[in-house]
Amino acid sequence: MVLRIIVLVKQVPATENVKIDEETGTMVRSAMEAVINPFDLYAVEAAVRIKEQNGEDVQVSVLSMGPLMAADAVREAIAMGCDEGFLISGKEFAGSDTWATAYALAKGITVLGEFDIVLCGERATDGETGQVGPMVGTFLDIPVLTYVSGIDRINGEEIVACRVIEGGYELVQANMPVLISVVKEINEPRLPTLAGKIQAREAKILVLDPADINAENEKLGLSGSPTRVVKIAYPTITRTGEIVSVENSSVETCVERLVDFPKAVEIL
Ligand SMILES: Cc1cc2nc3c(=O)[nH]c(=O)nc-3n(C[C@H](O)[C@H](O)[C@H](O)COP(=O)(O)OP(=O)(O)OC[C@H]3O[C@@H](n4cnc5c(N)ncnc54)[C@H](O)[C@@H]3O)c2cc1C
Repeated sequence: MVLRIIVLVKQVPATENVKIDEETGTMVRSAMEAVINPFDLYAVEAAVRIKEQNGEDVQVSVLSMGPLMAADAVREAIAMGCDEGFLISGKEFAGSDTWATAYALAKGITVLGEFDIVLCGERATDGETGQVGPMVGTFLDIPVLTYVSGIDRINGEEIVACRVIEGGYELVQANMPVLISVVKEINEPRLPTLAGKIQAREAKILVLDPADINAENEKLGLSGSPTRVVKIAYPTITRTGEIVSVENSSVETCVERLVDFPKAVEIL
């Protein structure tokens, strides 16, 4: 019997300076360099390791929701060793909050067929809510294991995993299908090999629209989202810094300046 794993990956801006449209409260994606969400690399690696340990009896699919350029994130996961990739995309999905995102992803997972494990990252570096994984599990009505730092064993229809809890770890058992969100501690993600990159470049990423995933249009995108970012405020940085360079003066003068600086700005 084949063990079917689906990994959820999100494409995020390759910057901490996420720009938000103050009118709509949604992210301004245009002209931003984008990467696979760094936390999702751990989920991809976990899936690929299960595949390596169990050979051809494991099939790993990657699923993302986002603009067409998010196919790059799906390809990166394939380059790391996943078998195939899917992208939920279309203007109907734009502006989705966590609820609408999880709804669409759960619908997508359902049309992909039978599955045993859904793996996702702890959180995305842009939205940072950490809600999507558990919400997908809720839509699919399956057990959810969060903060997983290790997969101990997969026995028939059961999985035993280690969760990070305050002050320690707990070993938990769940029936499959199950949704698992992983923490960084679980592994060290590999770099894609050249062969993997070639395979990823040639892979066909199937793009799914609302009709393909049997989604109700009124539950998608900004209009289908029950939450709204109502205000964005950027912190004012009040600290002032000074770079003291030895290029323009002696080391002694620089050290004196460094010693005096905290006094000048009243830190000491
Ligand atoms: C600054 C900012 C603040 C926001 N605040 C909110 C808010 O308070 N409430 C709200 O509902 N929405 C909010 N959003 C919108 C939010 O980014 C989107 O709903 C997003 O699609 C999912 O939420 P997240 O980024 O928090 O993902 P998280 O829940 O942090 O992601 C957890 C994991 O779920 C998977 N995942 C998440 N999104 C996708 C995807 N599109 N495709 C595939 N896998 C995915 C990944 O494995 C990821 O590691 C905010 C966005 C921004 C930029």
